[in-house]
Amino acid sequence: MKIAVLAGDGIGQEVTAEAVRVLKALELPSLELVDADVGGIAYKRHGHPLPPETLGTVRASDAILFGAVGDPDCDALERHLRPEQAILGLRKELGLFANLRPATVFKGLEDLTSLRPDVARSIDLLIVRELNGDVYFGEKGMRTTPGGLREGYDIMSYNEDEVRRIAHVGFRAAKAKGGRLCSVDKANVLETSQLWRDIVIEVAAEYPEVALSHMYVDNAAMQLVKDPGQFDVIVTGNLFGDILSDQASMCVGSIGLLASASLGEGSFGLYEPIHGSAPDIAGQDKANPMATILSAAMMLRHSFGEEAQAARIEAAVAKALANGVKGGDLGGNAGTREIGDAVLDNL
Ligand code: ATP
Ligand code: MG
Repeated sequence: MKIAVLAGDGIGQEVTAEAVRVLKALELPSLELVDADVGGIAYKRHGHPLPPETLGTVRASDAILFGAVGDPDCDALERHLRPEQAILGLRKELGLFANLRPATVFKGLEDLTSLRPDVARSIDLLIVRELNGDVYFGEKGMRTTPGGLREGYDIMSYNEDEVRRIAHVGFRAAKAKGGRLCSVDKANVLETSQLWRDIVIEVAAEYPEVALSHMYVDNAAMQLVKDPGQFDVIVTGNLFGDILSDQASMCVGSIGLLASASLGEGSFGLYEPIHGSAPDIAGQDKANPMATILSAAMMLRHSFGEEAQAARIEAAVAKALANGVKGGDLGGNAGTREIGDAVLDNL
């Protein structure tokens, strides 16, 4: 169980330290943690946000626990040297094509969401978003029309292999959850979505235990707010997933609680909080480390099959919250270290 710890910049350092304390407290016999630099700190030390040393460490590991990257000192650098490029580089180098974001409302936090408390309580959702295809990666450019108007274009495309592999991730997640899978597309107007739907239906034959449904993305956006409890797992493309996963995350509450995983074909994965490096509160013991602690739980579940240990961490976080331990993002005043202590106490 070799884990590369890439804490990165800003609060990434502080929140990752707490997640590491929680992992160590589990006393897993084969746990091995190796630190490596990434982001602005890596640029300052090695001249690149994703240096070869870090890639070497990562390639020799089974999973990555990632903090955050982003450093105001690096704003003036050329694009390929900016800290944010590190995460894109890691996804590409490691073939991480599936992004998983769970969204649930913790007990006692129903009033903090943007939904009615009874609606919020019904949410137990996982969004599976494709990461490597779609309109972000197609041919793009600016041209001039025959009439002399400037015109921008971005080609949206998916091939069947790209759809098939993300469909499998969605079905496996739904199966593990014992739930339904909703595939979100826009098949009434887009060719990519027609292919998407065909392939998802084809893959469904391999998962007879999962109930599959299809929904157009505009309706899905509405249903997520109206009746989110109807969803167990949503699988969708890069563009629709980008939007829906942010929407879903704000339906359940705070930036300091939301974990994510980026997965490839095998058991390897990169696990990180959805928040950034938050330079405004960095180094002040103000960041909520729960999102990173919950990301470590996702890592134990998805990369190492340690379901019981993952559930143990999640229960400890839930208990700390129920006991009123709240970070600044939740309107409380518990510090980073204090929140880590509370989770450890409840393990
Ligand atoms: P990035 O470009 O890296 O996404 P950002 O500025 O868009 O950065 P964040 O770094 O996620 O976004 O911060 C957004 C806001 O949320 C900031 O005001 C930050 O202080 C707050 N915030 C982010 N993460 C946490 C956390 N773990 N605990 C408390 N507050 C947080
Ligand atoms: Mg941001």
